[in-house]
Amino acid sequence: MNITIHRGANQIGGCITEISSDNCKLLIDFGSNLPGNQKAELTEKQICDIAGSADAVFYTHYHGDHVGLHHLIPTSIKQYIGSGAKDIMLCKYDALNKYGDYGKEIEMVKRINTYRAGQRFDIGGKGEIFLTPYFVSHSAFDAYMFKIECEEKKILHTGDFRQHGYLGKGLFPTLKKYVGEVDILVTEGTMLGRKQESIVSENEIQQRITKILKEHKYVFALCSSTDIDRLASFHAACKDTGRVFFVDKYQKSVLDIFSKYAGKHSSLFDFNAFELVNYRTSNVKQKLTREGFLMPIRINGYHLVKNMLDVYNDESAWLIYSMWGGYAEENKNYTIESVINIRNLFKERLFDGTKDYVHTSGHADIQTLADVCKTVNPHIGVIPIHKEENTAYESLPNLSEYKIFHEGKTIIENISISI
Ligand SMILES: [Zn+2]
Ligand SMILES: [Zn+2]
Repeated sequence: MNITIHRGANQIGGCITEISSDNCKLLIDFGSNLPGNQKAELTEKQICDIAGSADAVFYTHYHGDHVGLHHLIPTSIKQYIGSGAKDIMLCKYDALNKYGDYGKEIEMVKRINTYRAGQRFDIGGKGEIFLTPYFVSHSAFDAYMFKIECEEKKILHTGDFRQHGYLGKGLFPTLKKYVGEVDILVTEGTMLGRKQESIVSENEIQQRITKILKEHKYVFALCSSTDIDRLASFHAACKDTGRVFFVDKYQKSVLDIFSKYAGKHSSLFDFNAFELVNYRTSNVKQKLTREGFLMPIRINGYHLVKNMLDVYNDESAWLIYSMWGGYAEENKNYTIESVINIRNLFKERLFDGTKDYVHTSGHADIQTLADVCKTVNPHIGVIPIHKEENTAYESLPNLSEYKIFHEGKTIIENISISI
């Protein structure tokens, strides 16, 4: 068996992992580099070289750093993602299509096959590699880790995950019941480089937002439009306080997808939002002025917010900055100017990310990373991916008994590992 980390061992995002046997080749994720990554993106030729002859590409979730290059993969290769994730991708591209030509992406997403948790796939029907997805909690909806069986060996690929989301408590029971001990653990390590960041649970965020909404009538929240947990926290806080959960058309269509899949979690994920058509009409103005609102906005929302601030001005509006703090740092290669511009509209009327407990990471904290390793007890070792270059998995507590694989080629127990 060969395990190849084509990309993602020393950067966050752009993940591409290959597991292959004599006659079978499986790819996990085919992401694009995150904005701000200085390295050149793969060319179409490089993409074809990696993807060519693959039996399947399985995506853990819909974030661009995991699916971003999907449309450049030859159509002959089968691709798979969760069905809720597929709906979100289509919804996103449909919205983007108004500003540019995303015809090819839409066409390609429509062709992607879907999987469901616990469904075991015989990759390529060759009886050599088997993959089973299991649900994980992440800042994306419908995200999965994969158990892979090949040549009597078992591998767990975690994808992006966390324990402190609403559905994170299922993590260890799932690992114990369905995965068990493994030979190799391929795990994300995003938080290895962010150890100072405070990790609060989504529940605590919800309580914090409720408190904010009790004190302030007009609140905008800059956040990811597809982070189901965060939106659920905002939505629940609105329900608690009687504020209007006010969303634009695109956000509404995303929430409708969440609601469609809410299932047994409907108390959290069945969204009841008031859709923005025209915030200037007297009816709407009357309602929002009387009840107040929380409105999730995106990084392209500057003009909308600026214009609304002129209309809703009987009280000062506040901004909840519910994204990673790095985007708001000046002059970094990961700076997002539009984030800074929106924040500047509010000056000091700002609840600022993890500092003010209105944001928490979508990724597993240090203790959870270590606990996952202990739980699946990888006999051969650990391949850390989705981590910053200068961070070390070895810095996790009490894991000295495990072999950690780094850049280079290693052959161990008939497995060839290339990073
Ligand atoms: Zn990621
Ligand atoms: Zn992600």
